[in-house]
Amino acid sequence: MTDTFMNPITTQTWSNGRHLVRCVKVIQETWDVRTFCFMAEQPVLFFFKPGQFVTLELEIDGLPIMRSYTISSSPSVPYSFSITVKRMPGGVVSNWLHDNLKQGDDLAVHGPVGNFNCIDYPAEKALFLSGGVGITPLMSMVRWYFDTNATIDINFIHSARSPKDIIYHREMEHIFSRIPEFKLHIVCERSDELGESWYGLRGYVNQRMLELIAPDYLEREIFCCGPTPT
Ligand SMILES: Cc1cc2nc3c(=O)[nH]c(=O)nc-3n(C[C@H](O)[C@H](O)[C@H](O)COP(=O)(O)OP(=O)(O)OC[C@H]3O[C@@H](n4cnc5c(N)ncnc54)[C@H](O)[C@@H]3O)c2cc1C
Repeated sequence: MTDTFMNPITTQTWSNGRHLVRCVKVIQETWDVRTFCFMAEQPVLFFFKPGQFVTLELEIDGLPIMRSYTISSSPSVPYSFSITVKRMPGGVVSNWLHDNLKQGDDLAVHGPVGNFNCIDYPAEKALFLSGGVGITPLMSMVRWYFDTNATIDINFIHSARSPKDIIYHREMEHIFSRIPEFKLHIVCERSDELGESWYGLRGYVNQRMLELIAPDYLEREIFCCGPTPT
């Protein structure tokens, strides 16, 4: 990449609409979750509100198909944006993305849009609750708050099935180890069958656990994202 590409004078900013983007990197996050990073062919600054999403316009087996994915990166790193996708058993698009989308591929996205974001709901104290891949909008917010040195007190409770399912585990540990006002609690439903044991919080988040971890939760702006229980 050249300096010309990064020239802030000539660089465009995107706004809600249809955009052609190129996949520039694929990152294996966990055994069934991948992050896909995108840039525009012409330089574009991808500003958006952390928590917002894009809708991918794809053609699979000759049929047009759209799916929405949260932008998991932060607008503080605006030359690219990322989505993080979990394989859904039997799911058309999530499996297609994992099996087919690679570096150099072009596609169209619509957005960014979404009211679930931390700009429209500013807070001094927040409680983040996420389950599984529901971490993506909250991770975008955490990255944004961290990169912008925001004055915010965050209590983050993330639930995963087992240790091998914890998305962004090392990055979260890193970020939360550096800011005293950021507290991270990871809850695993169980240990891995064959791999890692889990010595942290276990089971499902319930009222008692919440009161122990965040006794002041009623004073906090609550951002919650996760799957419906199965
Ligand atoms: C705003 C928003 C943000 C999102 N952000 C993310 C994100 O960050 N990361 C992420 O991974 N996902 C995210 N999602 C979910 C994502 O949009 C998709 O819904 C998900 O990837 C599954 O899509 P799919 O095409 O793979 O599955 P689909 O093909 O839609 O199938 C979904 C499920 O239904 C079952 N199914 C499909 N057809 C039938 C049928 N005829 N009968 C019975 N069962 C059937 C499938 O087996 C599968 O289990 C987000 C959704 C929204 C709305």
